[in-house]
Amino acid sequence: MHNFNAGPSILPREVLQEASQALVNFNNSGLSILEIGHRTPLFEDVLNEAVALVKELMQLDAEHEVLFLHGGASTQFMQAPINLLNDNETAAYIDNGVWGSKAIKEAKLFGNVDVVASSKDKNHTYIPKDFIVNPASKYLHITTNNTVEGTQWHRFPETDVPVVADMSSDILSCSLDFNRYALIYAGAQKNMGMAGVNLVVINKSILGKVNRKIPTILDYQNHIANGSMLNTPPVFAIYVSLLTLRWIKKMGGVQEIEKLNEAKAKLFYDTLDSLPVFKGTVAKEDRSLMNAVFVMEDPALERAFLDQCKKENLYGVKGHRIVGGFRVSMYNALPIESVKVMTDVMKEFCLQYA
Ligand SMILES: *Cc1c(COP(=O)(O)O)cnc(C)c1O
Repeated sequence: MHNFNAGPSILPREVLQEASQALVNFNNSGLSILEIGHRTPLFEDVLNEAVALVKELMQLDAEHEVLFLHGGASTQFMQAPINLLNDNETAAYIDNGVWGSKAIKEAKLFGNVDVVASSKDKNHTYIPKDFIVNPASKYLHITTNNTVEGTQWHRFPETDVPVVADMSSDILSCSLDFNRYALIYAGAQKNMGMAGVNLVVINKSILGKVNRKIPTILDYQNHIANGSMLNTPPVFAIYVSLLTLRWIKKMGGVQEIEKLNEAKAKLFYDTLDSLPVFKGTVAKEDRSLMNAVFVMEDPALERAFLDQCKKENLYGVKGHRIVGGFRVSMYNALPIESVKVMTDVMKEFCLQYA
């Protein structure tokens, strides 16, 4: 199988093998990882190593704390403003796609939202570049990779206010100066594990400035004080993240992963642009290295192409229901061989139908 799923998505084979072993007998303890207490050295080692690996792979400074929290990235849509924004204050948001729009909706429950730029005029097929963030804004929120529409920020936004980023679908896929971000969050199920856990990286100096009452379980400061163990953490999901982080390190870290991702994306987009039957939907300079979104010049052929993909064991190619067409997700764990098979099938299809 060649797995191009957008999320939950492909994991390295060895991660799946080790994770399944841990379900039966974790670290030769004779117990399943599902059966051990979270406040045991067995699990504390897992959490500590996962946090240390995130710090190492992202080269975080001492100001930045690493949390593993429950809930998907959707939980962070509200948890971020609850912790960072007072009712009478304003946060700047970029309306850049489905996920960013949802983040805006939640933030409005806790303060004022200034949508400083939107790509809605062109169905979110580009990244807005000319926008001005009011310096009085508490933070600027962006979605670094738009999973549904297939666009990605290729540089840090121009602003002096703290930047909050939803990196769910491109976390640890390219080398960035992660310390420039005040808050990064990512649901693990696209690039660093399975569903059920969020990675949250937070510059602690931005916390403690709101005056609302924050429920205990939603307060980042409580999670920091308790080392992600305020309550029972998602033990197995954190373990799968640990295995994925170890795999990223073994591959040579984020720099090397980035090179592989660039090679995969180049192969894919070069092929796409060379075939008249297919058409990319987003502005070329904003194309996502993670999710390639495209359609057909003749929509009547789309069914036939999907059938062809199915026959060749290319899985998860159908586009998001909002955008239609196709989406080929090329996350960290997808080998370039899968992209090669995909592009060969596309070329073959063109010969048949063009
Ligand atoms: C998948 C995704 C989400 C939603 O994640 P959940 O874990 O389902 O809440 C949010 N933002 C982005 C960019 C995503 O790709």
